[in-house]
Amino acid sequence: MTTPRLEINLSKIHHNARFLVNLLGRRGISVSAVTKAVLGLPIVARQLLAAGVSGLADSRIENIQTMRRAGIEAPMTLIRSPMISQAAEIVRDTDTSLNTELDVISELSKAAQAQGRMHGVLLMIELGDLREGIMPADLEDVVRRTLDFPNIVLKGIGTNLACRCGVVPDAVNMAELSALANAIDATFGPIISIVSGGNSSNLNWILGGADTGRINNLRLGEAMLLGCEPLHRQMIEGLFTDAITLIAEVIESKVKPSQPWGMIAESAFGKATPPADSGSISQSIFALGHMDTDPEGLIPPPGMKILGSSSDHLIVDSGRDRLPIGTEIPFQLNYSALVRAMSSPFVAKIPFSEETALALQLPVSA
Ligand SMILES: *Cc1c(COP(=O)(O)O)cnc(C)c1O
Repeated sequence: MTTPRLEINLSKIHHNARFLVNLLGRRGISVSAVTKAVLGLPIVARQLLAAGVSGLADSRIENIQTMRRAGIEAPMTLIRSPMISQAAEIVRDTDTSLNTELDVISELSKAAQAQGRMHGVLLMIELGDLREGIMPADLEDVVRRTLDFPNIVLKGIGTNLACRCGVVPDAVNMAELSALANAIDATFGPIISIVSGGNSSNLNWILGGADTGRINNLRLGEAMLLGCEPLHRQMIEGLFTDAITLIAEVIESKVKPSQPWGMIAESAFGKATPPADSGSISQSIFALGHMDTDPEGLIPPPGMKILGSSSDHLIVDSGRDRLPIGTEIPFQLNYSALVRAMSSPFVAKIPFSEETALALQLPVSA
């Protein structure tokens, strides 16, 4: 089979999604499945819907259009603030978007009127991570003006932490979000139906048994696809962390010294840290590099160590075993490695379910 390739185990993704839907459902929290890391791959989106998520969410209108073209009719949310230039497409292809700018909401309103559609708006609040969000002090005014736009339905509020500055979702900022929902309802009547607390990095806070207040939705991507939470990259008990693996092929395999020789300057990707001197090693080169993934985000199988990488090469110490040319090895990926591999035209994407695994000669989960 073609290499490099991402093997996407749909059965494991289904398990992860169902597990999280059930876990959060018991706390009265719905899950919007975030599909951006798999570029809205329709077969994955269908699996997530089958697992019981309440809707699909993506940061790119193109990915949402991919899912729409595949005939997926589930509620669709654009989770990056809309580009004003894309207002018409967003109204046509999504149900809801996350917003922070009145100029954009105004344009969405015009597009919605022109198309005879209603468009849902979730207002995002800045709670410290300093990415998107309305400052809390400005929220009441933004709500008042949003309510005046024709064909716009204010669905609720939300926030996003941990993505830019690593601000941790905790009792304090989550209570603030709940309090803001209460304050708006107190001023305008009960209008806030969705309070979307955040992304996979909110799971620690929830699993810690926190009082979830008015939070009744999370937008989850990484946890469902990779089985871990992004704050400390710990696996979440009960989830598969190997639902997606990247398979690469050995193109050179030689015993070489661990130390380079000659005069040393910068390498292709800046300053190279000199490798430790461990005498002669079994060095394998895989046909995989920065053009295919984020090599820093790969985890090799036990006994192997990644030594370096360039655009097209991944250099690995294969330990005691010399790997024959053509050997295929599975690597686990972090979020960065996954999104880069999904976006690379050089990497094949091979979704499979356990029923089809045998026919494709792919590994079946333990
Ligand atoms: C990417 C993103 C998410 C999902 O994040 P994960 O860490 O993959 O769960 C949620 N909300 C917003 C606004 C995002 O951009």
